Amino acid sequence: MKNRELLSLLCCFLLQGTLLSQIAPQKSTEKWPPELTEVWEPEPVVVSPGQSTTAPSDAIVLFDGTNTGEWIHKDGSPCKWTVQDGAMTVAAGTGSIFTKRTFGDCQLHIEWRTPAEVKGEGQGRGNSGIFLQNRYEVQVLDNYGNRTYSNGQAGSIYKQSMPLVNACRPPGEWQTYDIIFTAPRFNAGGMKTSSGQITVLQNGVLVQNHTRILGTTEYIGLPRNEAHEKAPLQLQDHGNPVSYRNIWIREL
Ligand code: MG
Repeated sequence: MKNRELLSLLCCFLLQGTLLSQIAPQKSTEKWPPELTEVWEPEPVVVSPGQSTTAPSDAIVLFDGTNTGEWIHKDGSPCKWTVQDGAMTVAAGTGSIFTKRTFGDCQLHIEWRTPAEVKGEGQGRGNSGIFLQNRYEVQVLDNYGNRTYSNGQAGSIYKQSMPLVNACRPPGEWQTYDIIFTAPRFNAGGMKTSSGQITVLQNGVLVQNHTRILGTTEYIGLPRNEAHEKAPLQLQDHGNPVSYRNIWIREL
């Protein structure tokens, strides 16, 4: 096809494309050159993937196994959780921990392990949690042969959305969450204009598929939707010595 013909076809497409696609999209596009539907700009930025589950080149590493410098307690004091053998473990009673940084839309990778020595049952066995924006909990729990309410088990958006499957590994083994989170949006008047959305893979298995977040995680009562901006990531002290390692996040 000559350049002039291609140009005239392109003009025709630009002028009539919408109308044509509404009338008879298949018939009208059969003779198009394939280049008409190619998009070259912008070009996706090149990112070197990490080996296995190590952080990719553009991630913020929130815990690399050596120190808890990215984390503080609610009162701003340094993180008192213990660091040993490349993992940090809840020191029961010291309280939940929060990132110094705040986040909005993100991709989060985090590895967790419930105690090998099984104690307690239901919500009392290996309970912790990952709170996106300090409000929306992806439950961490030992649910390997440990029944509890379905919307409170590991992989749930706590009290809002049960996981699609139970993909738990046995207690004492490391498990992964890969989380893709879209923060809720609020207008200037403080009204929510779009809900948060979350996708979660547990150990590589899809457990939440673009799930709508109804509002804040509440132990009692219904979710709330007060306006907020970027906020810290929180890891919960629920009194059980749950461990974490290899935590990294990519802001979207
Ligand atoms: Mg929890």
